[in-house]
Parts: sequence; structure tokens; C-alpha cells
Amino acid sequence: MNWYYARGDERMGPVDDAAMDQLVRSGAVTAETLVWKEGMADWQPLGSVAQVGTTAPAPLPTPVAAGDMAMPESLYGEQTVAGCVECGRSFPQDEMVPYEDHLVCAACKDVFFQRVREGGGLRGAFRYAGFWVRVGARIVDGFIINIATLAISFVVGFVGALINSAAGGGDGFEAIAGILGGLIGIILPIVYEIVFVGKYGATPGKMSLGIKVVRSDGSPVSYGRATGRMFSTWLSYIIFLIGFIMAAFDDEKRTLHDRICDTRVIYK
Ligand SMILES: [Zn+2]
Repeated sequence: MNWYYARGDERMGPVDDAAMDQLVRSGAVTAETLVWKEGMADWQPLGSVAQVGTTAPAPLPTPVAAGDMAMPESLYGEQTVAGCVECGRSFPQDEMVPYEDHLVCAACKDVFFQRVREGGGLRGAFRYAGFWVRVGARIVDGFIINIATLAISFVVGFVGALINSAAGGGDGFEAIAGILGGLIGIILPIVYEIVFVGKYGATPGKMSLGIKVVRSDGSPVSYGRATGRMFSTWLSYIIFLIGFIMAAFDDEKRTLHDRICDTRVIYK
């Protein structure tokens, strides 16, 4: 069972029973400290939680054998335990590396600082963009793509007609114009998505609503991944949009193509 506890105005944890036990022994958590774990209606002072004495810090909440009770306090010394911002597990503070207001454990520090260097954010600090804002972004993009497709088709058709008439006119012209128009309609949305997401992390539709595509760790999306994601969206379309609707029921708002490509859409 995981515990949360209050330090000043901050919510700390989750910590497991063993770590909580350590916190109590080290004095970081006392009988007056507000604690909460699943199943409790509200935060309560540790001292008033069942089975725990109100004065001396007592071992929690797994019954501890008498032999363990006699363990000398000095075993834990003055060490204070804190949660790692990356993995959430608890470690003695002096074994951890600080980053801004957070602490990172030794096992996570390489991965963590690598990501921060690459422009990624703190894990768990993302605001995921939900289903409707993403629908809105797709509508804006659809509008832009349609206008662009019309404009390009018009120019191509106009130039083609000029060339055709200069060449004396031919029967094949309309067929060629139709094929060209169809190709533009297919290629433009693909290029649009890949170039904007690969270069800026967002299509104009997403930019206009303040959202962007990132890796699950917050780092930017490469052109390769943007390409894979583009084609994965087709999968989300052909299963009757279920791939998109999945975002409405996912705690990280992942669509099918986000799952395939390990991407997330977040607010900037
Ligand atoms: Zn860690």
C-alpha cells in the first residue's frame, strides 16, 4: 500500500510501507504529519491512523516483529528519504541529485538529465491534450489543406491548360489533369503533416490551439517518427475513427497512432 505524506505545503510520495517505516524512524514523518493512503477518506495525522501510537513514532503499518522493533535508531541515522521525480521510488536524500525543486535518484539521473538536455520536461508534468481539442486542430488543418489543395490544383490546371493549348490541344489533357488533381489531394496532406510535425512538433491546427506532439518522455519528434505517425493515423481512420476515439478513454489521451509511435499530444 502506498502512502502519501505532507511536508509543508507539498504532497510527498507515494512511498511504500518500508519507506514509510524509514521516514518514521528518521523522524521525517511524525505523529502530527498528515498522511493519506488509498482507502482513507481524508488526510489524517499519522498518530490518529489506526494502530499507530500518538506519541512515539511507531513502525507502520505492516506488523513488525519484536526483533525488528529493537533495531537501533542509528541504523537509519538522520537520513531523510525523498521520492525520485523520475521513478517515484524513495531514497535517502543524500544519495539523490537535485534538479530545480526536485530530486532524482542515482539510477534515473542519466536518463533524466539526458532528456532535460534534449528539451524534454519532467515526467508527470505534462498536460495531455484531450479528444475535442485535437478534433478542433484536425478541423483547422483540414480547412487549411483544402484551401491549399484548391489553390495548387487551380494553378496546375491553369498552367496545364495553357501548355495544352500551346501544344495544339489534345484529348489526354483532362485525364492527366484529373490524375494530377488526385495526386495533389493525397500527397499534400501527407507532406503537410510530416513537415510540420517533424520540424515544429505541431501542424498549424495544433499550433493555433497551443498543443504539440512529443515523445512519451517529452522530447521532440523526429521526421522519421512524424512519418510513421502520419501513416499510423490512416490506421486510426480506417477502423472507423476508433483509433482517434481511444484518446477520450486513455489517461494519457493516447490515440492508436500515439500508441504505435510512442507519442503524446500535450499543451505547450
Ligand atoms: Zn528514480
